[in-house]
Amino acid sequence: MTQPLWTRDAFVDATGGSVLGDVPGAIGGISIDSRTLQPGDAFVAIEGERFDGHDFVAAALEAGAALALVARDRLERLPADGRYVVVDDPLEALRGLARAARARSHARIVAVTGSVGKTGTKEALRLALERSGRTHASVASFNNHWGVPLTLARMPADTDYGVFEIGMNHAGEITPLVALVRPHVAIITTVQPVHLEFFGSVEKIAQAKAEIFTGLEPGGVAILNRDNAQFDLLTFLARNAGVTEIRTFGEDPQADAFPQRVAMQTGSSSIQARVLGQDITYKIGAPGRHLVKNSLAVLLAVVELGADLALAGIALGDLSAPKGRGAQTRLRLPAGVATLIDESYNANPASMRAALQVLGDAQVSPPGRRIAVLGDMRELGEAADTLHAGLIEPVTAARVDLVYCAGPHMRRLWELLPVHRRAAYAEEAAGLAAMLKEDLRPGDVVMIKGSLGTRMGPLVEALKQEY
Ligand code: ATP
Ligand code: MG
Repeated sequence: MTQPLWTRDAFVDATGGSVLGDVPGAIGGISIDSRTLQPGDAFVAIEGERFDGHDFVAAALEAGAALALVARDRLERLPADGRYVVVDDPLEALRGLARAARARSHARIVAVTGSVGKTGTKEALRLALERSGRTHASVASFNNHWGVPLTLARMPADTDYGVFEIGMNHAGEITPLVALVRPHVAIITTVQPVHLEFFGSVEKIAQAKAEIFTGLEPGGVAILNRDNAQFDLLTFLARNAGVTEIRTFGEDPQADAFPQRVAMQTGSSSIQARVLGQDITYKIGAPGRHLVKNSLAVLLAVVELGADLALAGIALGDLSAPKGRGAQTRLRLPAGVATLIDESYNANPASMRAALQVLGDAQVSPPGRRIAVLGDMRELGEAADTLHAGLIEPVTAARVDLVYCAGPHMRRLWELLPVHRRAAYAEEAAGLAAMLKEDLRPGDVVMIKGSLGTRMGPLVEALKQEY
């Protein structure tokens, strides 16, 4: 039999709880969602802003949970014949599991933070490290006060490489999370004006990201983006936090990892790079210069974690753009095929620029055109209008033929567009659907992007359904 994730005794020790009912000796996994729970998992009843996990304990037990980790003061509401580990605070108990998982582990651990590119970099690390050993990584964007301890609590004892995404919306959020993870390597992908309304300045965002240095293991390595405007500040903050090992990636040949040659194809890139003095040639199975940059950070981490660089390079060929983050689909129009780039998951100035650059790199054959459908970038506070107007530069650089704009902030960009580039403006994304469908021609490449709340996703779905 394979080793269970947790024995009952280790689980009880780590959570400091007391057993109630017939809890089995082996626990196969940790779940916080009764809908996806696997039989044998422990269900952790977490109280969120909108839901209280205790409302789903009965369903979890029904689905075959080995036990439910629950709060003492909720017990009376729960099925009397259930299997429980009872604690004061299930989230604190989950952190206990996280600490125990980290303490028992021999894994080499990397943590990723940054304003954009965390999940993409995390997925690339997962692929790259899997070739060298048993690898455990965060699911989706599980990067917050419950996502990080949950990921640790799920880490098998025999893991060789652990990959953790750490996110934040406010100062002070990373410190307690990185204290749990205790990485050997910490990557900051880039610092950009994202969630600016909570911070006021990009320097304050850099300071909050720099909290990741506080949790580095002694002798641990910080991996920083040399091309980022905040690089000098981050380097200063790293040294201030006692980090002595700093590695850098970027365009500059002075960086520890830099590209020597990059060839962009529509759906992939081919790269020749130098990583800590070693030459490596590899492909990335998803388009975009930003992914090339991220991949250099990944390869630095691979070397610093003691994994195999050549195998990592091969693995990156399997990278694909996830749904809503650059995934490409063919639209079968009555008269021929057009390409849809789905960037509807979210938007901020950095990822908007990256997506426009990909659109600019896309091969369009006549009579095809590059079309951008852009919704508002939210949470930018007072700088919002300026940052939207600033998109005129990447739109022009990418030689976009037609621009559709949706949302009050995008009006700033719309007003700056030359008439021949203007397709349509609407207050809401839904207002663009009919015109866009009408307009599309064979050979067009259309990229759709906006903050989640601007509902660009339904626009993507409408096109996919029609064609
Ligand atoms: P979240 O905070 O939502 O978890 P994230 O930091 O995990 O976001 P990803 O999901 O990896 O970020 O990427 C978000 C978007 O940013 C995608 O559209 C991706 O293509 C783009 N992106 C990724 N890396 C970079 C980069 N280095 N510079 C600019 N844009 C990037
Ligand atoms: Mg993410």
